[in-house]
Amino acid sequence: MSEPSIFTRILNGEIPSEIVAQTDTLFAIRDIAPKAPVHLLVIPKTQQYRDVTELAAGDPALLVQMIELANTLAAEHSDGDFRLIFNTGANAGQTVFHVHAHVLAGGLDESSMN
Ligand code: ADP
Repeated sequence: MSEPSIFTRILNGEIPSEIVAQTDTLFAIRDIAPKAPVHLLVIPKTQQYRDVTELAAGDPALLVQMIELANTLAAEHSDGDFRLIFNTGANAGQTVFHVHAHVLAGGLDESSMN
């Protein structure tokens, strides 16, 4: 068993964070270092998939659920338009190896591409 990720520790209430949405399989929080006016993270409750390629291979339905929740949250928190980012691998900037989608919305510009 791997150590609990920071996101698992948030889900378990060990690290404070506002959980803005929750389903049977997913939860969403506000990113602590926002890169856009709305910057949410959509995260599977399971930490068994380290990145989106593992998730796509192992549970594609869960990946679809992540996209659907991102869409719902973008409508609730902004005008419905959003950018969805999965940093995949350390050289692409991934620091937490528990798959998560960055949902960026509200006044996006090129600077929020990274
Ligand atoms: P990066 O750090 O380069 O964005 P990731 O794609 O792995 O890499 O994203 C991890 C995200 O988790 C970061 O955007 C970071 O700001 C966010 N984060 C880290 N700790 C917390 C926390 N305690 N609460 C909310 N968001 C967090």
